[in-house]
Amino acid sequence: MTDAATAPAFAETNSTTDDGIEKLPLQASDAATRVAAAADHGKRDLIGLSREELGAALAELGEKPFRVKQVWQWIYNRGVTDFASMSSLSKDLRAKLDEHFVIRRPVRQVEQTSEDGTRKWLMRFADGKEAETVYIPDMDQTRGSVCISSQVGCTLTCKFCHTGTQLLVRNLSSAEIVGQFMAARDSYGEWPSPTDESRLLSNIVMMGMGEPLYNYDNVVKALKILVDGDGIALSRRRITLSTSGVVPEMYRLGADINVNLAVSLHAPTDEIRSRIMPINKKYPLAELMKACREYPGVSNARRITFEYVMLKDVNDSDADARELARLVKGIPCKFNLIPFNAWPGSAFECSSWNRIHRFSDLLADLGFTAPIRMPRGRDILAACGQLKSASERERKSLLKARLEAGITDDDHD
Ligand code: SAH
Ligand code: SF4
Repeated sequence: MTDAATAPAFAETNSTTDDGIEKLPLQASDAATRVAAAADHGKRDLIGLSREELGAALAELGEKPFRVKQVWQWIYNRGVTDFASMSSLSKDLRAKLDEHFVIRRPVRQVEQTSEDGTRKWLMRFADGKEAETVYIPDMDQTRGSVCISSQVGCTLTCKFCHTGTQLLVRNLSSAEIVGQFMAARDSYGEWPSPTDESRLLSNIVMMGMGEPLYNYDNVVKALKILVDGDGIALSRRRITLSTSGVVPEMYRLGADINVNLAVSLHAPTDEIRSRIMPINKKYPLAELMKACREYPGVSNARRITFEYVMLKDVNDSDADARELARLVKGIPCKFNLIPFNAWPGSAFECSSWNRIHRFSDLLADLGFTAPIRMPRGRDILAACGQLKSASERERKSLLKARLEAGITDDDHD
């Protein structure tokens, strides 16, 4: 299936509100799901279903509830992708499942491994849309984080972010979110799910393309699958979700799944933040700080991470560091200082190394942990959070998508 067949459907459903800040993405990737089902001759993908939904799907075939756990373990603990391998099920049942269902993965369209061990995939979904997933090993290479995307593109247009410049946006389904992690595990052959201590792919960061809290239902559903003890069984404490600060959904997240929280702060004042992050006009700093303070389980042992991209002469002065310390006072937190990753056409420069170190030292003097995130996978353009590289190929496909969707440059602010 080509982009040409699907692009108009997505373009129709994305809308812009009066303030121009929030362009609501599709609430579900229905069109993509339909395309996938067509490709599978109407068979339903079992990945991404909640336990209840899986139970209902099996009940339609006349199967008893205890089958849910069996099938779940085969899919999520053993990682099988075909029903024939489910040896604890009768041959008849395996054939019946095969007739009605598929176990799908996003296609690992491109796979690149950096000299430092970082591995990046371009994942291609059934409708031809693509997003990137990155594995970032710890320094000792015995474990690491998988950086997962939640949307294709992003509607929030933070001024320093390349993802925000993409015009065609859709939510990823729960299957596509879980599928990224499963495909990454396929790449390393990490099945069945190891115990927590010996996992190579030990952590998940929802820091890829998109704003995860603008795709709330699918993201939370996917996270619930990832932590389920009968399957992938990743601890909630090994999952971190990064948000630009969608305040109401931060409260929901704390109540629904309570994974670790990272907040893209990037500025010490409303004045600066609103300039570089339009969402700040909707949810200003006072509200954001309140939501952080009230996030369940936040303590010195479980701190909020404030991400802070270092932008030359925008947010990197000594005064900014001091103001920042005042802003977050009383919140158990640490900072993560991110050198700005420039992209062609971006209006910013990265602060100098001296400045970044000085900023980090100042915060440390004021009592905060503020490490500098060292760029990883530079040779394969694997910067997590700026996932779409500005390669010639991608620029061409963006242009193509724009033309197909009937969008001219004038439509985009
Ligand atoms: N939408 C979410 C998660 C994805 S972005 C969010 O904004 O938090 C992951 C991180 O990368 C965010 O902190 C984001 O601000 C940061 N980021 C985006 N573009 C960047 C760039 N060009 N250089 C460095 N960091 C960037
Ligand atoms: Fe979206 Fe996050 Fe990029 Fe902002 S920084 S445009 S919220 S992906």
